[in-house]
Amino acid sequence: MEPRVAGNDKKTFDLIVVGSGPGGYVAAIRASQLGMSVACVEADRLGGVCLNIGCIPTKALLTSALMVKEVREAGKHGISTGQIAVDLGPAQERSRAVADQMAKGVEFLFKKKKVTHIEGFGRLAGKGKVEVELRGGGKETYDARHILLATGSRPRNFPFLQIDGEHIWSSDHALFQKTAPKTLIIVGAGAIGMEFADVFDAYGSEVTMLEALDRVLPLEDKDVSAHLEKAYKKRGIAIHTGARVEKAEPGTGGVTVTFKDKAGKQHVVTVEKVLSAVGRVPNTGDLGLDKAGVALTEKGGFIKVDEWMRTNVERVYAIGDCAGGALLAHKASHEGIACVEHIAGQAHAPVDYGNVPNCTYCHPEVASVGMTEEQARAAGYDIEVGRFPWLGNGRAVAMGDVDGFLKVVRDKKYSEVLGAHIVGPHATELIAEFVLGRHLEATTEEMEKAMHPHPTLSEAVAEVSLATMGRPIHI
Ligand code: NAD
Repeated sequence: MEPRVAGNDKKTFDLIVVGSGPGGYVAAIRASQLGMSVACVEADRLGGVCLNIGCIPTKALLTSALMVKEVREAGKHGISTGQIAVDLGPAQERSRAVADQMAKGVEFLFKKKKVTHIEGFGRLAGKGKVEVELRGGGKETYDARHILLATGSRPRNFPFLQIDGEHIWSSDHALFQKTAPKTLIIVGAGAIGMEFADVFDAYGSEVTMLEALDRVLPLEDKDVSAHLEKAYKKRGIAIHTGARVEKAEPGTGGVTVTFKDKAGKQHVVTVEKVLSAVGRVPNTGDLGLDKAGVALTEKGGFIKVDEWMRTNVERVYAIGDCAGGALLAHKASHEGIACVEHIAGQAHAPVDYGNVPNCTYCHPEVASVGMTEEQARAAGYDIEVGRFPWLGNGRAVAMGDVDGFLKVVRDKKYSEVLGAHIVGPHATELIAEFVLGRHLEATTEEMEKAMHPHPTLSEAVAEVSLATMGRPIHI
């Protein structure tokens, strides 16, 4: 641990973190635990996109969407509801209350963990200096031995699909709607597109999804994409994969979207609203990076970092979305911890990028970790693939939630879990078992030998592990 900066007058810190999302605030807390004097500069609300306009409020809305589905099926449980009416307004208000509660939680944690919160927009201003345009007006310059950039990302905006907040939304706008539009086109079937399709479909919108690649959730295993496409179509969501959006023109009657389908046929459709969910770009502008000489990646313009999140400029670091890789909150938090522990001379290991779980909280839920079957084959592994349907799991049947499956890719040589893919009930919770297994280098035999309680969904983890060795019990 380097010596603390002497005579801390609240303008001088061991570490200044710019950005308080799940990367920045976690790094700031960990650094404080390690004995550093820490400030975190935030231009907006504490908690960043994740807590305020991302992960957390969308999960609140998705919980409401699931409840709509469950109430529709309440008759099976002897609950009479009569005609069901849905209204996005209260669900949206609830999602804001959840987000507010979480943002206040970060404020509380900062006080408890002695992290100074500087309210304003921060940028690099020379060696060891951060200039902040204070929210209350004026500018102040702070000194820091180390500077950590954790400025996140924002929705990508294409020229042919200009987000205007009124007719054409980004996820930021979709989150603040109090009524579901009658008709909605969602461009992009990644995590954001799939999650909002779930919410708006539940609240009565007629949803059409346009995805440029040949399948929905294109980063997931092909079997997962195929299952989700079928499940969404069954709900009545229209999906065009291999679609090319040519233009989207707002007018008095809504937005007219022109796109070519897979077969090259042109469609011209007018809908009430359009949601652009075509990826995110890093917040790297106006951070003083140029002047400080901080290098960016050629592709995507992310901040270039090494395994300890160091940029090419001494004592300047970057983590999370602004540093590229998977744009995921948990990956950002882990990078933040690895970075500050390294600064403090207490590093364990850099982030294991091969073991970052992916979760999409639509219904059925989707979660995965490691390689897809295709990736494992392409990497030259001799593999065995195990599949297990939820129909073979007593708890899932009792819950009435059997839509989906588990799939595990096993390396035959060492019986290593190369990849795990789950579609179905609580997939996003269950995937953690495979993440831990992989972290501890468990074999598929060990995944099964660890006793799973009965009756639980977790038994399916054991069953799919057995399935990779050709001996599942319940199928
Ligand atoms: P994404 O990159 O995951 O998906 C965007 C999709 O849009 C891709 O499938 C892409 O092929 C498609 N696309 C791009 N241009 C298109 C075009 N012109 N026409 C049609 N389709 C087009 O991005 P996202 O869903 O916007 O999410 C942004 C980031 O945030 C991602 O990195 C994602 O992992 C992360 N995120 C994660 C979660 C979660 O973990 N549950 C939720 C939301 C966002």
